[in-house]
Amino acid sequence: MVPPSQNNTIDFDAAKLQRLGFPSNRAHSMRPVSLAQLRQQLSMQLQTSLDVERILNLFFCEVQRLVPLDALAYQHQTSDLRLELGERANHSATYRLSHEGEYLGELIFRRKRRFDDPELGQLESLLASLLFPLRNALLYRTAVQSALRDPLTNTGNRIAMDQALEREVELARRNLMPLSLLMLDLDHFKQVNDNHGHSVGDEVLKAVATTLKSQLRNVDMVFRYGGEEFLVLLSGTCREAASMVGERLRQAVLELQCVAQGQPIKLSISLGCAPLLPGESPESLLQRADTALYAAKRDGRNRLSMAS
Ligand code: GH3
Ligand code: MG
Ligand code: MG
Repeated sequence: MVPPSQNNTIDFDAAKLQRLGFPSNRAHSMRPVSLAQLRQQLSMQLQTSLDVERILNLFFCEVQRLVPLDALAYQHQTSDLRLELGERANHSATYRLSHEGEYLGELIFRRKRRFDDPELGQLESLLASLLFPLRNALLYRTAVQSALRDPLTNTGNRIAMDQALEREVELARRNLMPLSLLMLDLDHFKQVNDNHGHSVGDEVLKAVATTLKSQLRNVDMVFRYGGEEFLVLLSGTCREAASMVGERLRQAVLELQCVAQGQPIKLSISLGCAPLLPGESPESLLQRADTALYAAKRDGRNRLSMAS
């Protein structure tokens, strides 16, 4: 059943608010003092963070002092952001947020009881306090994300890898969960560059990274460790399962059909697999995966070697 939804999806941006003039007609019939106070308070409070989730949490809590809500949902597809706060309810008021033509996402207020017009007016006024903090937080998020990604392969870079490794080892230890690491390296990759040129080499690296990602779950993390070396962090994954994942990756790269100037490029990877040992440090785990990778190379390449 489609939940009853109030037909009040509107384009909401700062320009529109100005055109409306604040307080709006709707706002006149409300409690202007407390609305103004809340707006002022919100505009200060929301500036205290650059974290989208925290800003929306604050907004959700504070708005309820004036307009009771059951839930707030937010999504911004280009940032891959989707948040649900509170409990779902049937009635909704949807706002498409934008500022000077820049899309800032979609925000949905939900409630078990219908929203009346004065309440919608209050919500729209309060939304104005959200625009600038939200825009800044989205910009900051983009900047942080690009600082953590390898631009060629769109995998995590070394900074992201160090942070993730530290965090995942700590989580695995605390929750007594398994964690495994795969370190992999393209075999004879120098020949690809030598035979086809560096830009073809770049394309091959991209294709391999895409193949790796397509074989993994969303929670698995892929990082570019160095030139043609990648690291895969498999949380909640024990030794046997990690070995199977590694074999799957090896097979997928082997079957990858890369062609340059009409000539097929033969590709394979070698892998070192290391499951986290009790009490082991991130550095030691990385070292054991590296040693296992070295063994896979030594034993003939295009294979997976398990760390001892
Ligand atoms: P092995 O099987 O022992 O790993 O042999 P290999 O040729 O892959 O290893 P080697 O370390 O001798 O060479 C790695 C090559 O990877 C050399 C380097 O030019 C190339 N490489 C590293 N980063 C990049 C990159 O970003 N783009 C391209 N095109 N090549 C890269
Ligand atoms: Mg190599
Ligand atoms: Mg290498």
